[in-house]
Amino acid sequence: MKQRFFNILGIPIVHSDYHSFIELLEEKIRENKKTFVVTANPEIIMRAYKDKEYEGYLKKADYITADGIGVVIASKMLNEPLPGRVSGTDMMLELLEHANQNRFRVYFLGATEPVLDLFLKNVHEQYPQVEIVGSHNGFFDWNDNNIKETIKSTEPDLIFVALGVPKQEQWIAEHLDYFQKGIFMGVGGSFDVIAGVVKRAPKTWQKLNLEWLYRLIKQPSRWKRMLAIPHFLFKVVIQKLGR
Ligand code: UDP
Repeated sequence: MKQRFFNILGIPIVHSDYHSFIELLEEKIRENKKTFVVTANPEIIMRAYKDKEYEGYLKKADYITADGIGVVIASKMLNEPLPGRVSGTDMMLELLEHANQNRFRVYFLGATEPVLDLFLKNVHEQYPQVEIVGSHNGFFDWNDNNIKETIKSTEPDLIFVALGVPKQEQWIAEHLDYFQKGIFMGVGGSFDVIAGVVKRAPKTWQKLNLEWLYRLIKQPSRWKRMLAIPHFLFKVVIQKLGR
């Protein structure tokens, strides 16, 4: 399937709806095609805009999806509306469901040890057929080769990396060449959500695209990071004017 990409502040966002994108990833798993996926919110795009090193990590991605309603709004402002959000947490849950049905092999990297333990317990309970080939907490020595060697030797189909931004994209980009196969996806705080340590916004808030507001209310310390959203929209207006 030929994919269209849509450029927002220099970042090519894949023009795909959620279900088609999941199908695409399943195809990649069946074909054993190594694939690096970034789920980009305004904060990620703004970071890439300001930080060339981080932009370099994103350049190694095969697909960058529109996570965050801000990115979808930006596409509408630029008259090239994206079909909707393609969220990292949603995709991880759906791919785990597929893994449960098809016995895909999965590796998890990230979060603190107690969160990871709770997370693994919940995954095992909800998706008992998933073959968890390994896991490691997210606080390790960057030069320790054990993690990448385990991933290479156990050949997972899916590798979820929950180290937060920018570490997760950096880790994947720096190690990608070493691996033969696998879908590599950064999933931020998703392990904390599935562990039950951080609450996800109720469905109604999600439907109203207010997940970001819920998160801000629950974790007010994030307000500084969220300033990226108005800054991002301002830059998008400039991109529009410059066309
Ligand atoms: N984390 C980690 N290693 C680190 C820093 C963070 O594993 O060196 C984990 C942290 O425990 C949490 C996740 O990464 O589970 C970051 O979550 P956050 O909600 O901040 O993600 P972001 O919004 O940056 O995607």
